[in-house]
Amino acid sequence: NYGSNQTSTPSNNNYLHELIPSNFDNESCLSRFEWPLFRKSSPYMPSSYLLQKLRNYETLHKKCGPNTPLYQKSIQQLNSGHSIESMECNYVVWIPLAGLGNRMLSLISTFFYAIITNRVMLIQLTDELVDLFCEPFPDTSWILPPDFPIKNLDKFDVNSNVTYGNMLDKHVIISNHSYNTKVESLPSYVYVYLVDNYRTSDMMFFCNDDQIVLGKVNWLLLKSDLYFLPSLCSSTPMFEEELGRLFPAKESVFYLLAHYLIHPSNNVWGLVRRYYMSYLAKADEKIGIQVRVFWFAKVSSDVIFQQILKCAKMENVFPELDSNGTKFIETDEQKPSKAILVASLYASYYEKFKSMYYEHSVKTGELVSVYQPSHEEKQNTENQSHNQKALAEIYLLSLCDVLMTSGWSTFGYVSSGLAGIKPLILMPVWHKKVAEMPCVREASMEPCNLSPTKVRCKGKIIIEKERLQQYVKQCPDIDDGIKLF
Ligand code: GDP
Repeated sequence: NYGSNQTSTPSNNNYLHELIPSNFDNESCLSRFEWPLFRKSSPYMPSSYLLQKLRNYETLHKKCGPNTPLYQKSIQQLNSGHSIESMECNYVVWIPLAGLGNRMLSLISTFFYAIITNRVMLIQLTDELVDLFCEPFPDTSWILPPDFPIKNLDKFDVNSNVTYGNMLDKHVIISNHSYNTKVESLPSYVYVYLVDNYRTSDMMFFCNDDQIVLGKVNWLLLKSDLYFLPSLCSSTPMFEEELGRLFPAKESVFYLLAHYLIHPSNNVWGLVRRYYMSYLAKADEKIGIQVRVFWFAKVSSDVIFQQILKCAKMENVFPELDSNGTKFIETDEQKPSKAILVASLYASYYEKFKSMYYEHSVKTGELVSVYQPSHEEKQNTENQSHNQKALAEIYLLSLCDVLMTSGWSTFGYVSSGLAGIKPLILMPVWHKKVAEMPCVREASMEPCNLSPTKVRCKGKIIIEKERLQQYVKQCPDIDDGIKLF
């Protein structure tokens, strides 16, 4: 038995198993099979159309993946400098950027783009990403081979000549007459820059006409730190329809795609498993608190702790303290227990919780334990073992029953998205002040796109506002942000 109220056999409880290709062996990637066993139930099941699309994608990836004759052919095409129509395999290469949360969000968005545009997704595996994730597709690899002819992908930025925006500005590509654009006039690759400082011309990526042109380019190299998926669907009618067919419940997009694509490696899962079994499995309720303090919004840990307590009181998250301090935990009675899991770069929040429940009893007489797996003190994205711990904590949070996460934090967004839980979002500190409302209960478990496109497409095919409002809404923690719900 993996935890409270749960059955132990994979076959009768693995409600996500249809998502996973059947020809994987369990041992090579334990998390793929075990994560659903640690959870009580799933909020959403995959649609049969999604399952069909994934199986088709796997076939395509196997046919076009690294070291296949078609891949070699596509590399020759890339070297030729211009695109051609008849290529059987077209690719999108994901280039990592920023912290792990940002990376997971852009990776899922890129994969969604790959499946709806029939491209093969390959990832640039930088050193710090080694041994973090399992291979997601059977009998092939998603790793961009090291002899890929375009070097220094990480050096590409907003100013590179090869960004889509710069190509538009310099008329290397003209998207106005998208249907007439001759494929031979297009370069063999385009670098798509969807980073929070992107410019209007980069944002044209989201327009219908531009997608028609880009659909003819054999290779796309894509760098992003955003969950750009909602923008793909809200500004591009050709993708909006597909979204609806793949995901009848829009707020399940990240949950289902992430549990298909992303699985911690056995080493990372070892961290999760050991910690979960040792400290969390037996608790009747697991409460995850993620505290992210951004350098541009710093206040003292006391102020943030008060905000957490205020939110918890308002939403009835923690057992209430017994102010007289006289209530003893009964020794002869089985009382329900609560585990508070703190994820933060700093130890101070854990210390404060621990002291609070050490120095005071609680009114209900429940057992309250407080845990924090690590406190790394500072973000160290270039370090592999730091990233392994960060990923383990994201997955530990995803196994909690209740989540309180920091606004603006992609680390928090990913945790709630994987958990399939609508979290309490701690409102960001602004001008050194905590907002009057300490937190908001999210209406959707989908991550927020913090910097959506603001472009007005030339092609004029715009999704009607009313239709949009049915499934896209403003994020509670940032006015400009949008999310699916
Ligand atoms: P964001 O900056 O909050 O949007 O989240 P990111 O994940 O993109 O970047 C923050 C990075 O800081 C993480 O990837 C970790 O490397 C590190 N980090 C932040 N909070 C934590 C935490 O609670 N635990 C651990 N282990 N690392 C953290």
